[in-house]
Amino acid sequence: MPLSRDVYAELEQVVGPRHISDKPWILAGVRAAQPSSPMKPPSPEAVLLPGSAAEIQQIVRICNRHGIRYIATISSLIGFAYPSGPGTIILQLKRMNQLVEVNAQDRYAVIEPGVRHGQLRTELMKHGLTYPVAAVGPGGSVLANFACSSGDNHCQHGASRTNRYLLGLEWVTPEGELVRVGSLANDAGWFCADGPGPSLRGIIKGFVGQWSGMGVVTRIAIGLDAWRGPPELPTQGRSPSYRMRLDPACHKTFVFKFPTLEQARDAMIAIGEAEIAQAVLKYFNASAALLATESANEFWELWDSGLFQRELARPLYVFLSAWTHEELEYEECVLRDIIAEFGGADVDERIQRIYSDNMDFYILVGALQRVLRLGGGWAPCKLSGDSIGHMFEVGKAIPEFITPFIEQGRILDAPDNWQIIPLEYGHSAHIELLFLYDRNQPDWGKVPMDFMRASMQADIRNGHHGTMPLRTVAASQAIGALFSNAHMWANRVKDAFDPQRVSNPF
Ligand SMILES: Cc1cc2nc3c(=O)[nH]c(=O)nc-3n(C[C@H](O)[C@H](O)[C@H](O)COP(=O)(O)OP(=O)(O)OC[C@H]3O[C@@H](n4cnc5c(N)ncnc54)[C@H](O)[C@@H]3O)c2cc1C
Repeated sequence: MPLSRDVYAELEQVVGPRHISDKPWILAGVRAAQPSSPMKPPSPEAVLLPGSAAEIQQIVRICNRHGIRYIATISSLIGFAYPSGPGTIILQLKRMNQLVEVNAQDRYAVIEPGVRHGQLRTELMKHGLTYPVAAVGPGGSVLANFACSSGDNHCQHGASRTNRYLLGLEWVTPEGELVRVGSLANDAGWFCADGPGPSLRGIIKGFVGQWSGMGVVTRIAIGLDAWRGPPELPTQGRSPSYRMRLDPACHKTFVFKFPTLEQARDAMIAIGEAEIAQAVLKYFNASAALLATESANEFWELWDSGLFQRELARPLYVFLSAWTHEELEYEECVLRDIIAEFGGADVDERIQRIYSDNMDFYILVGALQRVLRLGGGWAPCKLSGDSIGHMFEVGKAIPEFITPFIEQGRILDAPDNWQIIPLEYGHSAHIELLFLYDRNQPDWGKVPMDFMRASMQADIRNGHHGTMPLRTVAASQAIGALFSNAHMWANRVKDAFDPQRVSNPF
């Protein structure tokens, strides 16, 4: 349903002719399927580049009047950043890229949607500040990650998931009202996400986010942590062959291996109880091999050598980051005691060196997009959160459904390519299973769907909180009962806030 000329003219009046287009070649660019996805997104009817919250409000009201769907996007690095159906316009928010305020005293930053990790992270380091950066890479939007989608990160053991860092926020509701949430509502500043009375924070972003299904977030404040590194990163070499080492007197990386998953789990819990370390992860092993190499050929050479399968089937990655050398020494002593108590050992020196030489794995401004390098298909699944113990139960059950896919050659033989990352010194944890598949096989498009369904069915069978209730109707109905019927609550909230169902409905 192309936009009528009248509606196009109405929208054009809001943003100006330079910032709207329905030219076929522009729309073709934004409807191109992601290489890993079998699904071709529906073409949008137009792309708009609004420059302010006031413009977004007007656009959203026009959409409500004419029954036009809309979706906000920035870098579109995930499948949910594409229109969920025909008759949709895209609000591309990259023009709204102001770092509005850095308040070093009260430790918060106010940002617009177009501010990227590469921009914010480097600026904050100059102020001695930082925040939990998603592994998405420097081009990802900070606001999208904190307020609209996902939020897990490598350093969340000593920090948290990004939704826990969300403070005051400014939001255009699905019907076009501008709402200031939290302390902002009383003109008390940006410092708090909850104001007097019932809080709206969870409507906008709970564990995951609304993927543009609940209006448009136009500005947020995020809480900041102290940064123990220098104002500028000490990088040597050029991408992709670069090294980044923080001061070894205060920063140290470790990779340990464990004989059993139970031992790795217990060590992870004990490290949290001791309240040491910035990062602790049971990390993916195939993704680690992708990060460790600079070309697809190099990856296959390394993977076929079997080193990462042998050494990193049950690893714990640990990053100690301290203010003083004495503090680092103390944390290392405690860590070594815990690793010994639970039967851990150092991994092969060749692997350890990768992380000592390049600490970017814990800083996350660079290399993470390398995990996409193989150019075939890949997708994540599970993605939910619960206690560390429960996440390991989910992990232990992975062979139940992954083995047939591997035996039939439908996915890469990497049954240990899953991660568990604790949050807030182990008070909860997140799990993710990444699978890679060859797009040259017949019916390749069925692989991700079949695999994700098998993974979800295993969770339902086992009563595991492993699969995050996704926004697609079928998946959320299937898994919702395990999460207090979250899908029914989500529907009621959607009906109340978006009665016309125009804010990117699923
Ligand atoms: C290689 C790779 C690694 C990743 N690793 C991580 C990770 O470690 N942790 C993690 O949390 N995520 C990760 N992601 C997922 C995801 O890309 C990120 O969550 C990221 O925040 C998305 O940023 P973006 O700029 O691409 O946002 P987009 O993809 O453009 O948007 C993300 C979602 O939010 C919606 N949205 C965007 N802006 C607004 C707005 N202003 N108001 C309302 N809705 C909006 C979009 O419609 C979309 O549904 C990864 C993705 C890739 C490709």
